Amino acid sequence: FLPHLVASMEDVEETYIMVKPDGVQRGLVGEIISRFEKKGFKLTGLKLFQCPKELAEEHYKDLKAKPFFPKLTEYITSGPVVCMAWEGVGVVASARKLIGATNPLQAEPGTIRGDLAVQTGRNVIHGSDSPENGVREIALWFKEGELCPWTQAQAPWLRE
Ligand code: GDP
Ligand code: MG
Repeated sequence: FLPHLVASMEDVEETYIMVKPDGVQRGLVGEIISRFEKKGFKLTGLKLFQCPKELAEEHYKDLKAKPFFPKLTEYITSGPVVCMAWEGVGVVASARKLIGATNPLQAEPGTIRGDLAVQTGRNVIHGSDSPENGVREIALWFKEGELCPWTQAQAPWLRE
């Protein structure tokens, strides 16, 4: 082990990533987790979870006025989701790139939505849009004790 090669914890962010019910039903959980693992980010929380209506409404509260809001909360509560917390330098923006545009038809090939989905209302995955929302959403979806801090053995091979 080469502790002197471990990157500093400065600039480490966390993001809330969620496989939506369509992603779970379509058997895409492993594929989606793989993309974040292979990129080199660190998984610090993971659970399969049936989301109650109130939590879906709180999570998407900024979209409350949108005409699609009732359909959105119905979609998110229509079956189990996979809740994840991921950590890393630049993880928030990088995860949004890996995920791709909100409308899967506009998402670039190579992105999760670009490769695996065809419609905004069934776009298989959520990712926090800012470091502040990453912190807010992880606190919203995970209880204390559900997150697991750990040291990634490959850390010195990911960052100088
Ligand atoms: P995201 O950050 O890329 O997930 O997109 P937004 O924050 O703008 O919207 C949140 C989620 O609401 C999206 O991922 C979609 O699941 C859903 N959504 C957004 N726009 C629409 C829409 O026009 N129609 C429907 N049915 N759902 C939408
Ligand atoms: Mg959003």
